[in-house]
Amino acid sequence: MKKKFILPFFLLFLSAKCFSIPLILTEEEREFIKNTPIVTVGMMPDFTPFSYYIENEVVGFEHDLLNIISQKTGLVFEKNIGKWTNIYNAFKNKELDVLTSISYKEYREPFTYFTNAYYNIPIMIFVKDNFGEYNGLKSLSGKKVGVLKDVFYIKELEKIGTMNLVFYDNYDELTKDLVFGKIDALIQNLTNINYLIKKNLYNNITLASELSLPNTSREDLRLGIQPENIILSSILEKTLSSISKKEMTALSEKWIGSIKEYPGGHINLTNAERAYINTKTIKYCINPSGLPFEGLNEEGEHIGMSSDYYHLFEQMLSAKFELVETENWNQSIEYIKHRQCDMLALGMETPERKKYLNFTSHYLDVPLVVATKVNVPFINHILDLENKKIGIIKGDAFVKILRGKYPSLDIIEVDDIYDGLDKVKDDQLFAYIDTLTSIGYEFQSRYFGELKIAGKISENLELSIAVRNDDEELLNILQKSVDSITSERHRKILTKWVPIKYEEKINYFFIWKMIIFVSVFFVFIVYWNRKLIKANSLLKQAQTYIEEKNKELKQLALTDNLTKLFNRRKLEELIRNEIDESRGENKTFCLSILDIDHFKEVNDKHGHQKGDSVLVDFSNLIKDNLKTTDYIGRYGGEEFIIIFPESKIDDVYKAVEELRLKISHYNFHTIGNKTASFGLTLSQEGDTMESLIKRADNALYEAKESGRNKVVVL
Ligand code: GH3
Ligand code: MG
Ligand code: MG
Repeated sequence: MKKKFILPFFLLFLSAKCFSIPLILTEEEREFIKNTPIVTVGMMPDFTPFSYYIENEVVGFEHDLLNIISQKTGLVFEKNIGKWTNIYNAFKNKELDVLTSISYKEYREPFTYFTNAYYNIPIMIFVKDNFGEYNGLKSLSGKKVGVLKDVFYIKELEKIGTMNLVFYDNYDELTKDLVFGKIDALIQNLTNINYLIKKNLYNNITLASELSLPNTSREDLRLGIQPENIILSSILEKTLSSISKKEMTALSEKWIGSIKEYPGGHINLTNAERAYINTKTIKYCINPSGLPFEGLNEEGEHIGMSSDYYHLFEQMLSAKFELVETENWNQSIEYIKHRQCDMLALGMETPERKKYLNFTSHYLDVPLVVATKVNVPFINHILDLENKKIGIIKGDAFVKILRGKYPSLDIIEVDDIYDGLDKVKDDQLFAYIDTLTSIGYEFQSRYFGELKIAGKISENLELSIAVRNDDEELLNILQKSVDSITSERHRKILTKWVPIKYEEKINYFFIWKMIIFVSVFFVFIVYWNRKLIKANSLLKQAQTYIEEKNKELKQLALTDNLTKLFNRRKLEELIRNEIDESRGENKTFCLSILDIDHFKEVNDKHGHQKGDSVLVDFSNLIKDNLKTTDYIGRYGGEEFIIIFPESKIDDVYKAVEELRLKISHYNFHTIGNKTASFGLTLSQEGDTMESLIKRADNALYEAKESGRNKVVVL
């Protein structure tokens, strides 16, 4: 039941909105138009998307609106582009006939005639994404809130009085200050800020709420006319009303809707061009193995930079593109030659290709680099590669370009990047030339540590859209598209496919980190090694010192301190050794014990110290008169033992006798002559050290008993 009632109202509403009121001008009005060569109008340079600049041209919703008015009425507008404050004041001072983008305010009535609104923009509160919860205007108490000077809601905001209002001349600055945290929030219309957010990819701003104040609704955009200029006011009001809903929607879609689709610019297509796009599907070919520029994923879908460009073209033009699959780049070239596809998104212009292709201006400029094995020195210039085999992909524009420019190069065509890089790896090629982008992309997963980028050549790969040369219309459409791609968008596509991808796999940051880490580690190792070497040498020094000391200690343990002869311990050890050896080899040796005669007298007469020096002299005397094979040691006090390795006791007896005589004839300093008594014995089978010494001692005893200064053999 209800629907029946609603329908007539709905139809009424539709009819009122959809059909334009025909523009009927009075005689007076027509006369005015005739007599008014120019109407001056103030417009903003930065009121996106209503009035703003693309490149050097001022464009936007309001410019199209004025064009419609001109077409309908014949009025000619002279645009005065200036910041809001300037044009607003100029209008107030009656220097301008008309002002665009003015919102109705009662206080403006004395100096403004307002037309009906041609657009209503919601006023929004934007905050930084770390603002926290937003609960209405009270959340802005004490906060720095940015607003444009002279906007219509200023007075109401000031009346609230709780915010710290910060005033700006333009909303570019205003938005930037919010992005960089100089202010906490901003209040401005949605379209302006949305545009900047999209254009600059600001990602730390959040839409908090629509501004709702008792006396402020949406920002109503109107034409303001000098109030005394009643006829102009009436003409403009009538003309605006005569614009159909359809025309207005088209304007909104073109300027406001399009902003949502892509940042910046719009494409002004001719009717023929628009018709082309509406009726045709544009077929394109790609290089199926040319990532990151373009390629196919496992599902056979087009990926890479060019796929993003196609998406962008689709959005910008509302056109349909369709991929024609090929096996490789060569086949794509063949296909477009035979018109099986209409365009290539990324192609380099060459004279050869110009025979069957048209090119837009180039929109990607990619450096070409040389990949070699890691041990190759830096390559400064392509001529450094003279007489060396250099690989380039078959059919690549650079094969011809480089061959033509540098005939001395030995260029070898390879199937694809893998073929090229593999051949460099296997020494079949010295170098491989391709874009930094492609080589870098492959280095992410392969050839790492084996190949490197040895240098850049001066040529760049300049990529354009290539279009079959029998389709001018498509070329023009695509040229307009290329011209409309903002540098921001290019950057976005490049960074999406280049650095991000690099980071995922090769991760240059990680590599640098690794290099730094390895370098630091290396330096540390060198430092540590040096330290170790130093420590080692110190250790060695210490060891030698210890060894020396040990030797000394050993020596000390084995020698008699006073006489430096073997001590008793060493003598006993030597005797045991001799016994052991003689036992095994069945040989004998001799041993003599000698004792200085009446030595006690020396001490008694000359003191203990003199006695010591006599002991030293006596020791040296014996030592000097023995063979090096004989051992001599101090057995105790003034008793000594001599070990003679010879087994003939007669020979030893003679030697001992000689020694005895030598001693007796020796003149000890201040003491004169001293004698010594000797006991001598030959080792016998079954002798122990004790038995041997005992026998020698017995012989000595006999020598003493029988008058001293004698050698007795037992
Ligand atoms: P003899 O052997 O001819 O019977 O008479 P002697 O005077 O040599 O008597 P004996 O062998 O019993 O005495 C040894 C003396 O040698 C005792 C001690 O005063 C002296 N003497 C032993 N060792 C040392 C020493 O290292 N330095 C000094 N100055 N005298 C020593
Ligand atoms: Mg004695
Ligand atoms: Mg004695």
